[in-house]
Amino acid sequence: MSAHFIVIGNPISHSKSPMIHDAFARQFGLDIRYSRQLCPADRDSFIAVVEAFFHGGGVGANVTVPFKQIAFDYCQQNGQLSGNAKAAGAVNTLSYQNGVLTGDNTDGQGLVNDILSLNWPLTGAKVALIGAGGAARGVILPLIEAGIKSITIANRTPSNAQDLIDDLRQNNSMISAADIQSCETKALTGDFDLIINATSIGLTGDKLPLSDELTCRYAYDMMYGKALPFLNHFNDKGAATADGFGMLLGQAALSFERWLGVYPNVSAARAEIAASLSVKP
Ligand code: NDP
Repeated sequence: MSAHFIVIGNPISHSKSPMIHDAFARQFGLDIRYSRQLCPADRDSFIAVVEAFFHGGGVGANVTVPFKQIAFDYCQQNGQLSGNAKAAGAVNTLSYQNGVLTGDNTDGQGLVNDILSLNWPLTGAKVALIGAGGAARGVILPLIEAGIKSITIANRTPSNAQDLIDDLRQNNSMISAADIQSCETKALTGDFDLIINATSIGLTGDKLPLSDELTCRYAYDMMYGKALPFLNHFNDKGAATADGFGMLLGQAALSFERWLGVYPNVSAARAEIAASLSVKP
């Protein structure tokens, strides 16, 4: 019988996860069934779906919008959390082994792995992260663990960036010892090794208010799948650029490894999946 996996979300029909995990499984000749699970957007429904899935023999589940925080709370009360899930305050990967439910967060390490696969150096890097929502929060600890020198968190609402830093510092000693600053996005100036866009502005097509005095060697946008003004801006200034398609694959590869104990060849899967999604390989 094939091992069963799901991704739980609302909406969920757009999710690329089944295609990605199927491609990974083919690399190892593994017989898996990975399906999308639409769930009503409330806590009780989410818990009912998770319990029915794992009690029915499900092996692993991914969690996406709007359930990542609910999954975090549920694992905190009824299971255990990985260090990355604790730092992110959110869970994107659920596993059930030996009667214990574990919540993990692979988004941030997925981003780090993608950046390293591009041969962009992180050790000693001066990093700016634009955005202070859930995605930004999840990448801060993995970036610090990767050895960056400093990180400036810029946001449209600067108090949200400072609140995020204060909260993370209270809960993680590595983050509290790190060089972290905050500012308003339009006040972000200077030369950075890497600038990451972790805002959802790409969904609207609007442009971030970026200073002329802001430069970098590498620019990364967590969004993917369409022309992104943020990347065009830094491409015009001579920076190397990448969108978040590799992060999407990276977080999936780490979930796959948690569940099945083998790490897929992400670049081999990438071209195949990109072709069917009409995105840049
Ligand atoms: P949130 O809603 O939690 O956070 C949104 C952030 O964007 C906030 O910092 C908000 O600022 C800022 N923002 C929203 N609209 C604007 C705007 N018009 N101008 C300037 N800033 C704006 O979203 P997430 O953190 O969950 O997601 C952020 C992005 O990351 C999304 O595009 C998502 O698709 C992407 N992502 C990609 C992944 C991947 O695998 N590639 C994985 C996870 C996320 P403020 O605080 O002022 O409201």
